[in-house]
Amino acid sequence: MGRVDTRGRANTGDRPAARWTRACATGAAWCALAAVIAVVSLPAGGRQDPAAAVMYAHFIDVGQADCTLLEFPCGAILIDAGSQDAAATARLIAYLDAFFDDRPDLDDTLDAVFITHNHIDHTRALATIADRYTIRHYVDNGFRDGMGGGGQRALVAEIDAGRPTRLREIRDAEISVLDSFDGLTDASIDPLECPHCDPEIHVLSASLAEDPGWSWGAFENMNNHSLVIRVDFGGSSFLFTGDLEEPAIETLVSYYEGTAALDVDVYQVGHHGSGNGTTDSLMEAMTPHAAVLSMGAWHFGRTATGGSRPFTTFAYGHPRRETIERLQAHIPGYRSRPITALVATGVRRFEDAIIRRRVYATGWDGDVRVRATLDRRYRVTTHSTEEESP
Ligand SMILES: [Zn+2]
Repeated sequence: MGRVDTRGRANTGDRPAARWTRACATGAAWCALAAVIAVVSLPAGGRQDPAAAVMYAHFIDVGQADCTLLEFPCGAILIDAGSQDAAATARLIAYLDAFFDDRPDLDDTLDAVFITHNHIDHTRALATIADRYTIRHYVDNGFRDGMGGGGQRALVAEIDAGRPTRLREIRDAEISVLDSFDGLTDASIDPLECPHCDPEIHVLSASLAEDPGWSWGAFENMNNHSLVIRVDFGGSSFLFTGDLEEPAIETLVSYYEGTAALDVDVYQVGHHGSGNGTTDSLMEAMTPHAAVLSMGAWHFGRTATGGSRPFTTFAYGHPRRETIERLQAHIPGYRSRPITALVATGVRRFEDAIIRRRVYATGWDGDVRVRATLDRRYRVTTHSTEEESP
């Protein structure tokens, strides 16, 4: 199809060792011999554990933006492809290159790329990623207009021109007609079939066709049309709400009220920890063990005179103190050591907060990696901590 491989090698075909199956045995969750051989061949620091069927959520530090890589025994999925600027894109690509070098069995392939919504902090690196890696399924909410949608439009144009990536647009009407209240899934949303340790991926909310009666302006706000994605791996569970804001969160929570659809252990904090991206009712529905925020360093965007550049961490005031307090009030477990971090009391106003509970953030912790097992054990690793839960 004529794509240029900027890594200097074809995306398929030049890696003879690339087709090992990471089959996982039932019960004790030991991987099959082929998988062990594959793991042994990895360089030091490889992320796969030969002794167990595990997954990793890599909350990659892309600054004031979102990009999460989900690594499974038999594949990889990306949720959002954001970065705050060119330097963050370069860092993200270096991370993904290193990841694929550690996992040659994945053959430079992302089984699915989800874009929660068409804002640049969720899409900036999409074109680069699409040029560099194979993408089997591309999933979004059907909205690709505006500046942030450029990468999405380019990828869809490539697909229309014959790129062998399958396009899947999800609108909420597909979800709201379901009899079961556990979200939508299919071969594009959940393209992975790892033997005996098969992840399950569901979309719980997508773009709405009609205003449910939200306050003025909320329906036009693309944040509120974000894909909401739930990932289960055995007993372990994750929720991604994109940049959903309060009215849409309340619609989501009331829709799934009385079900376990939102009850997860690891919560990627909505809207970069803004004051309107997490509610008490959502926290009560999730009862999470840990939360991870994706946002920039607090001073990103601060000018020499104390002003701010637009669309930056400093200009937005992310994360807000009230959100961090809400997370800490609802999450029972503690970090092994508390840290002091700067949180915002408003735009361009920050002050110290002590983070005692299991709340992690790319803006404080750099890359955050969560290892999850089938039997619902988690280990969170940052450059400074490694913590087990429960
Ligand atoms: Zn965002």
